[in-house]
Amino acid sequence: MSCFASLEVLADADVIVCGGGPAGLGASIAAARNGAKVVLLEQTGALGGMASVGLVPSVIHMTDGKNITAAGVCTDILAEVCKRMNLPKINYGWQNVNAEIFKQVCDEKAAEAGVKVYFNQKLAAVEREGAYVKSVVVAGSKGLKRVTGKVFVDSTGDGALSAFAGAEFEVGDKDGNTMSPSLCVQYAPVDWDEYAKGAQEGKSDRALWKKMLDNGTAPLLEHHFVGTFKCGERMATGNLGHIYGTNCLNEDDITRGYTEGRKIAVIIHKFFKEQVPGFQNSELVNTASLLSVRETRRIVGDYKLCYDDYLKRSHFEDDIARFSYPIDIHSSKVNADEQKRVEERLHETRYQDGENYGIPYRAILPKGLENVYITGRSISCDREIQSSLRVMPGCFVTGQAAGSAAAMSLASGGRTRSVDVAKLRANMREKLGAFLP
Ligand SMILES: Cc1cc2nc3c(=O)[nH]c(=O)nc-3n(C[C@H](O)[C@H](O)[C@H](O)COP(=O)(O)OP(=O)(O)OC[C@H]3O[C@@H](n4cnc5c(N)ncnc54)[C@H](O)[C@@H]3O)c2cc1C
Repeated sequence: MSCFASLEVLADADVIVCGGGPAGLGASIAAARNGAKVVLLEQTGALGGMASVGLVPSVIHMTDGKNITAAGVCTDILAEVCKRMNLPKINYGWQNVNAEIFKQVCDEKAAEAGVKVYFNQKLAAVEREGAYVKSVVVAGSKGLKRVTGKVFVDSTGDGALSAFAGAEFEVGDKDGNTMSPSLCVQYAPVDWDEYAKGAQEGKSDRALWKKMLDNGTAPLLEHHFVGTFKCGERMATGNLGHIYGTNCLNEDDITRGYTEGRKIAVIIHKFFKEQVPGFQNSELVNTASLLSVRETRRIVGDYKLCYDDYLKRSHFEDDIARFSYPIDIHSSKVNADEQKRVEERLHETRYQDGENYGIPYRAILPKGLENVYITGRSISCDREIQSSLRVMPGCFVTGQAAGSAAAMSLASGGRTRSVDVAKLRANMREKLGAFLP
C-alpha cells in the first residue's frame, strides 16, 4: 500500500491539471469543453501563471505573420482581456496585458468551462502504480491531501509532476546552466504621452540605459534590458533585470532570486524616476510574487523536438500545434559578448511570414508514463526549441492539445497512447478553431 493511501481525498475527477499558467489554462479549459470532469490545482491564489502572478507584461507571437497559430484558448482569453483594457483588437504579434484583468478573465473562463479550481494547493508528491499515476498529493491549508483522477496533466512549468512520477528529464546546457530568471515589476503613475515624446528624441528607457552602459555609469551590469510596457492607462509593467547565476530548481537560489530581484527592482526604478521621461512621478508599486522563471526541466518524451526540426520547419503526421517564435536563449551570466550573440541569434533564426514548425503529439507524452501529459515550457525538446516554444502562446497550444486529448483518452481509461491523433486534430479544429493545416 502506498504511503499516501491514508490521506484524505480532496477531490476526484477525470482529468487533474497541476498548474494554472498558460499551459494549464489551455489544458483544463479544453478538457472541460470536451465534457471531462476537470480539477485544476494551483499553488498561488490566481490563474495566469507568468502572465498574472509573474507580471510578465506581454503575450507575444500568437501569429506567424500570416496565420493565428495560437488560435483557441489563448486567443479566446486575450480577446476578452483586450476588450476590458478598452483596446479595439488583439495585437497578435505583441499584446501587452494588464495582470489584474488577466486574472479575472481566467477565473471567469475556467468557471464558464466548468473547471473546478483549487488555489493554494501545491503539488508535493505523486502516487504511482506501475506506469500509471494514481493520485497527486497537494499541500494546502489542512496539510497533505490526495487528488485522484484518470489522466494527469503536468502544467507546472517545471515538469514537477512528471519528475516526481519518475520521468527522465534534462536541464539547461551541457553544464546545466539555465537562462536567468527575472522579477517583473509594476510602476505607476506613468505619463505615456511624455514617454512617447521622449522616445522620439532618443530618450526611451532602452536607449538611455544603453548610453549608461556605454559610458560606464550604469548602476547595474545588465546588458539585456528588455523594458517597460504600457499595461494600463497610467501603469507600466517591466521585464527588467536578470538575476544571473540562478538555478530555479535549487531552493537557495530560488530564495536569492526573490531577494536579489527586489533589490534590482529598486535600483532600476531609481533610474526610471530620475531619467526616463514620463516616469518622474512613478512609484515602484509591486514586484511579482512569483519568480519569473524562463527555464528549468525538459521532460524526455516519446519524441524530442530538436533545433533541426526548427530549421526544417518540420511537419509531423501527429502535429498538435504549429509555432514560429525564433531561438531566444537568454544568457545565464553577465557577459556583453554573449548578449550580443543572443540578439544576433534571435535575428538570424527568425522565420519569414507564414513559416512555422510542428509540435508532435509524441512530444507531450513523458516516456514511461501511460496517463500523463507534459505541457508548456517543459515539453520534450532540446534547449533551442525550448527557448522558442516557452513564450506564452506556445504554452497555451500544447496545453490545449493535452486537455483535448486527455478528454478523448477517457474512453480507454486515460491511456494517452490510445488516442487517435487524426481525430484529436479534427476535434481541436472544430472545438477550438486550432491552427492545424
Ligand atoms: C521574465 C520573463 C519574461 C518573459 N517574456 C515573455 C513575453 O514577453 N511574452 C511571452 O509570450 N512569454 C514570455 N515569457 C515566457 C512565458 O511567460 C512562460 O514561459 C510561460 O508563461 C510558461 O507557461 P507555463 O504554463 O508552462 O508555466 P507558468 O506560466 O510558469 O505557469 C505555471 C503555473 O503552475 C503553478 N505551479 C508551479 N509549480 C506548482 C506546484 N508544485 N503545484 C501547483 N502549482 C504549481 C505556478 O504557480 C503557475 O501558475 C517570459 C518569461 C519570463 C520568465
